[in-house]
Amino acid sequence: MNPLEHLRWPFFEDRHRDFAAGLETWAAREVRDVHASDVDAQCRGLVRQLGDAGWLRHTVAGTAHGGAADAIDTRMLCLTRETLARHNGLADFAFAMQGLGSGAISLAGTPEQKARWLPRVARGDAIAAFALSEPDAGSDVAALQCAARVEGDHAVLDGEKTWISNGGIADFYVVFARSGEAPGSRGISAFVVEAGMRGLAIAERIDVIAPHPLARLRFTSCRVPLSQRIGAGGEGFKVAMRTLDVFRTSVAAAALGFARRAMEEGLARAASRKMFGHTLADFQLTQARLAQMATTIDSAALLTYRAAWQRDQGENVTRQAAMAKLAATEGAQQVIDAALQLFGGLGVVSGQPVERLYREIRSLRIYEGATEVQQLIIGREVLKEASR
Ligand SMILES: Cc1cc2nc3c(=O)[nH]c(=O)nc-3n(C[C@H](O)[C@H](O)[C@H](O)COP(=O)(O)OP(=O)(O)OC[C@H]3O[C@@H](n4cnc5c(N)ncnc54)[C@H](O)[C@@H]3O)c2cc1C
Repeated sequence: MNPLEHLRWPFFEDRHRDFAAGLETWAAREVRDVHASDVDAQCRGLVRQLGDAGWLRHTVAGTAHGGAADAIDTRMLCLTRETLARHNGLADFAFAMQGLGSGAISLAGTPEQKARWLPRVARGDAIAAFALSEPDAGSDVAALQCAARVEGDHAVLDGEKTWISNGGIADFYVVFARSGEAPGSRGISAFVVEAGMRGLAIAERIDVIAPHPLARLRFTSCRVPLSQRIGAGGEGFKVAMRTLDVFRTSVAAAALGFARRAMEEGLARAASRKMFGHTLADFQLTQARLAQMATTIDSAALLTYRAAWQRDQGENVTRQAAMAKLAATEGAQQVIDAALQLFGGLGVVSGQPVERLYREIRSLRIYEGATEVQQLIIGREVLKEASR
C-alpha cells in the first residue's frame, strides 16, 4: 500500500501534498528507526532536529512568533504526526508535545507570553509540557486539586501533577490549577511555570512500556507571577479543553501512522515467509487478515482527515474528533496485533518494529481522553443532535 495515496483525497490542498512529500523524504532519511537507550537525550536531539528542519513551525500559531501560519493547520499537524509515527514513535512524541505543551499559549497567551515562548518552541530551543492530570484526576479532570492561591501579584501553587510528558526535560510547563473563582471547572486557571523555579520539583520519573520522558511533578509554595497566567482567572479549564480540541485529532493521526507501519511490515513478512511449500501470503486466512487490516486503516484515515478538514473550515468537530480518536487508536491496536501475529515468534523479539509498535500504540487509547471518554462524548453529541 502506498502510504501517500490518501494525499489525493479532496480533504487536502496542494500545499499539504507538497509538505507531506517533503516530510516523508526527510523522515525516511533522518529519523527512521533511529532509537537510543537514553530517551531524554534522544528526545532533546529530536526536538533540535525537528526545529532545525522547520517542522516545529506547524505546532504554534502566528507567523509573527515563528509559526508557519496564523492558526494551527490541523491537516498539517495530522500529516506530520502520521508520517513521523510511521518512521519513529519518539519523533512523533517530540513533535506532538511541542504543540500540546505550547497550545494554551498559542490560543490564549498574552502578547508577552507568545513573544517569549512560541519562537523558541518553533525553533526547538525550548521544550514544552502540558500539566493537567493528577493522581486523583485523570478522566475526571475537572476534579483536579492542585491549588493556586493568589497573593498580591503572584499565584502560589501547591499540589501534584502526574503523567506529565516531557516531565524532567521540559523548559516550561503549562500547569492547570484550582484558583477557586467558582466551583468545579470554572475555578481553574492556567500558568506558565518555568523549569527550575523554586517550589517545582520532579517528584518521580515514570517508566512506561514505550519509554519517553514522563514524570510526576510536585509544587510546594511555588510562586508564579500573575503575568504568567494564561487567560483570565477561572478560564483555565476552557483553555485546556480548547487545546485538547486541537490536538485530539492528531492523536488519531499518530495511531494511523503506527498502523500503516504495521501494515507495511506485515505485508513484507507475509510475502517473504515460506511455509508448507507456499508463502504465508498465499493462504486465504492471511489474505482475510490483510484485508481487515487495510480496511481498518482506510476507515481510520477517512475519519481522521474528515475531522481535520472540518476543523480547518472553522467547524465544531467535537463528535468528529472523538470518532477519529476512538476508531484510529482502537483500530491501530488491532492492526498492530494482527501484524505481530504474522511474524510468529519473531514478532515478540525486543526491537522488532512490530514489537515496538505493539508497545507504542497502547497509551494512545488512554491519554487525551480514554476510549470510554470518547464514547461518552460521541453518545452525548448524537443525542444532542437528535433532540434539535
Ligand atoms: C503515556 C502517557 C502520557 C501522558 N501524558 C500526559 C501529559 O503530558 N499531560 C497530562 O496532563 N496528562 C498526561 N497523561 C495522563 C492521561 O491523560 C490520563 O492517564 C488519562 O486521562 C486517564 O486518566 P487516569 O490514568 O487517571 O485513569 P482513570 O481516570 O482512573 O481511568 C481509568 C479507566 O477508566 C475508564 N473510564 C474512564 N471514564 C469512564 C467512564 N465514564 N465510564 C467507564 N469507564 C471509564 C477508562 O478505560 C480509563 O482508562 C498521560 C498518560 C499516559 C499513559
